[in-house]
Amino acid sequence: MDLPNSLHARDIAHVLHPYTNLSLHRTEGPLIIERGDGIHVVDDQGNRYIEAMSGLFCASLGFSEQRLVEAAVRQMSALPFYHSFGHKSNQPVVELAERLLAMAPVPMSKVFFANSGSEANDTAVKLVWYYHNAIGKPDKKKIISRIKAYHGVTVATASLTGLPNNHRDFDLPIARILHTDCPGYYRFGRPGESEEEFATRCAQSLEDLILREGPDTVGAFIAEPVMVSGGCIVPPATYFAKVQAVLKKYDVLLIADEVICGFGRTGNMFGSETFGLEPDMMTMAKQLSAAYQPISALMVNARIFEAMVAESEKIGTFGHGFTYSGHPVAAAVALETLKIYEERDILGHVRAIAPRFQAALRRLGEHPLVGEARGVGLVGTLELVQDKQTRENFPPAMAVAAQAGKLAQAHGVITRGMGDNFNLCPPLIITERELDDLMVRVERTLDDTA
Ligand code: PLP
Repeated sequence: MDLPNSLHARDIAHVLHPYTNLSLHRTEGPLIIERGDGIHVVDDQGNRYIEAMSGLFCASLGFSEQRLVEAAVRQMSALPFYHSFGHKSNQPVVELAERLLAMAPVPMSKVFFANSGSEANDTAVKLVWYYHNAIGKPDKKKIISRIKAYHGVTVATASLTGLPNNHRDFDLPIARILHTDCPGYYRFGRPGESEEEFATRCAQSLEDLILREGPDTVGAFIAEPVMVSGGCIVPPATYFAKVQAVLKKYDVLLIADEVICGFGRTGNMFGSETFGLEPDMMTMAKQLSAAYQPISALMVNARIFEAMVAESEKIGTFGHGFTYSGHPVAAAVALETLKIYEERDILGHVRAIAPRFQAALRRLGEHPLVGEARGVGLVGTLELVQDKQTRENFPPAMAVAAQAGKLAQAHGVITRGMGDNFNLCPPLIITERELDDLMVRVERTLDDTA
């Protein structure tokens, strides 16, 4: 029994937890993490866990990277805060923007900074609208997202998100946001249909939706290269080529949400490179700063930027920005993160270790509890089913993946069961030995769950 003044009890008494069953939290209480060490975190009882989710898909360099701590301290001592409103700027922001533009997989013109993935995507929504007003197409405002997409939790981005729990009882989605098919072949492919045919059907369904709505009313399509939160849905090889042909035909902008895929997760710097996306706007966050500071970014191409310039001249300002857009400490930490990625060849490491991870994941796919093991690079999921043959999932009330996640803790692993999916997204610095150790623990967890 907890003492009334324990941290545990005080958490239950005072903290409103995001993405939590609030009723269950009253009885279960929190897992209190005190410190980190490489890919591990340690709780207040001294238990050590492999953080197999990189926190929330973000702590790419683990939990004890001193260079990032020092970069933050250096910048805090020099200039702890300044903003970018009006014509103000600061050195880390300029350098970070330059560096990101140099890394972009397609030519981009400018970088806008914010604090979270949601804010970057929310800004993208506003820019779709601003841009189309600027170019005299005020009706071209609808944005198409996909079933099972995850783009954030603000009013607009939760609307883009295509998961029922993000809409239900929040009275979402808002108008002008539509959802098209999810490219998950395992769940949505038809019997006898090849992946290629499935990709063609998804693209056709997108085209049908655009035609139904009227091409002059559809402004943009937003997509994560891999839909990670929706169940690590890796699209068929030709999916994005087919989808982009449709978008070009109807002059619909493409927004790539690189919030999870960006900075090496799929084996290239951006998921857009892995899957051949040529976006007009890109959003990124999470691994941009290895999660040591909250920062996100939105890149726009020259066509969009030039229209924005003209519109802001007409209105007198570009009326959008956050107090912490381009926070110098966050920008300095992000810059140092990108330097570390380059100096330590993190991309080379991911490419070297990913086949081992994917092979181990596929082996676990043989487990009676696993319907499909899928993933790319250093992210993957085990979709849990009660019947391998029929692919029937467990009843939602069982929250089987969440249960498995809980059991994993007893094996010294933190993961995040989401829906039917047991997700794995370890820090990019994980070594072969650590990876082998993790996969043994995951297998034991599945055995316990079965
Ligand atoms: N986009 C994607 C693909 C994400 O996975 C997330 C968060 O997980 C977001 C956007 C939202 O980012 P944030 O939680 O920083 O607002």
